Amino acid sequence: MEKINRRSFIKNVTAGAAAVTAVAAVGCKPGEQKSASEEKQLGEMSHRVHNTSGDVVSLLGYGGMRWPTVGSGRNAPLDQEEINRLIDYAYNHGVNYYDTSPRYCQGHSEEAMGIALSKYPRNTYFIATKLSNMSPGDMSFEASKRMYENSFKFLQVDYIDYYLLHNIQGIAQFQQRFIDNGMLDYLKKEKEAGRIRHLGFSFHGNKECFDYLIDNYTWDFVQIQMNYMDYRNGQRASGNVDGEYVYNRLAEKNTQAIIMEPLLGGRLSSMVPPLTERLKAQRPDRSVASWAFRFLGSFPNILTILSGMTYMEHLVENVETFSPIEPCSEDDFALLEDIAKAILDYPMINCNYCNYCMPCPYGLDIPGIFQNYNKCINEGQFAFSSHDENYKKARRAFLVNYDRAVPTERQAKHCIGCRQCVPECPQRINIPATMQMVDDYVEKLKQNLEF
Ligand code: SF4
Ligand code: SF4
Repeated sequence: MEKINRRSFIKNVTAGAAAVTAVAAVGCKPGEQKSASEEKQLGEMSHRVHNTSGDVVSLLGYGGMRWPTVGSGRNAPLDQEEINRLIDYAYNHGVNYYDTSPRYCQGHSEEAMGIALSKYPRNTYFIATKLSNMSPGDMSFEASKRMYENSFKFLQVDYIDYYLLHNIQGIAQFQQRFIDNGMLDYLKKEKEAGRIRHLGFSFHGNKECFDYLIDNYTWDFVQIQMNYMDYRNGQRASGNVDGEYVYNRLAEKNTQAIIMEPLLGGRLSSMVPPLTERLKAQRPDRSVASWAFRFLGSFPNILTILSGMTYMEHLVENVETFSPIEPCSEDDFALLEDIAKAILDYPMINCNYCNYCMPCPYGLDIPGIFQNYNKCINEGQFAFSSHDENYKKARRAFLVNYDRAVPTERQAKHCIGCRQCVPECPQRINIPATMQMVDDYVEKLKQNLEF
């Protein structure tokens, strides 16, 4: 398949849209539907077909990294009742791809998803989970195999539809986690035995590593980070290789892409007012997030787009966006390119709030600190200089929000720069340096210094 440039992008959009319509005609929509009086009438959920197995997969996939909890705080238990309600809604509206990992939600995501899906016939949904053997204690053959076997138990299944080598960041790390310990060979045998239906990997590395993986091995699918920020600004937007490069390399190989971080951890669903206004001016009744999904839905070699929907309101809105997806026009695509460039002018931290860096041995709430910082920028509660017109208001709002969002003993000033968190970060954030930057900013505000 050709590389996508602006012109061929539009050509592919049309082909992709036609494919979506054709598939929708055979698409599965399991379970009952609510009556028109109960909810908005939706079209059919868009689907794509896996190019070797023929699986008809919903274009919106459910990511299980951010399930709701009962109460707040890092150790708050998952809210199983609400998770059941979310999965029921998704399933009954045609979402049939569910992605999880032994790492998500302090290790409880698979179990919660298994409970919620267990009442549905096994052949009406697809399960994706991962070999998340990232910490040194998990990397031996025995520990990795145990992790793999536990996934079956927690998910209450006897086969896994899509199994991924999780979070590959470099060639040496790939060798250590999957080759030297014999795990990849073992998983290939499991596939032959029918316990794994498709084998792939999820990727957060550089170009060299990506090329190595797809030129030396055969995969049934590959999960990549792609969104309209990372598409051409991957390095600046998230520290990753451009989505355009990895997407086109996969298309050349006829290997379908599964998309993670379509909203960059929420940074493309809520943005600074001037940018929100530009999107709203085009489509006043549609959410900012819908633009990011429509961008991705325009690429035909994508099998499914994962979204970690914690709240029912987000799920309902996303189901609407995908039922069916409306691909972007050439003007939409140009607008999103402009928006991406404009977002880069704001000093956001590239954090996707994935929690992989946690726990910090010194108790810092790393994602919480970064999330609050980004939120303040997005909501206009950030002073770029002490001479800003809104400095007084922004200063107060930032300091109040910071104390509310992050307990004092878990704030940036307590970072000792041990760097233990650094290798865990898939977005390649220099966490201690960023902590220092946040703390410097907070101190300037607290002491009312000129900057
Ligand atoms: S570098 Fe700072 S944030 Fe990272 S683990 Fe060490 S103390 Fe925690
Ligand atoms: S700093 Fe990195 S690892 Fe930690 S939550 Fe953010 S993106 Fe994830």
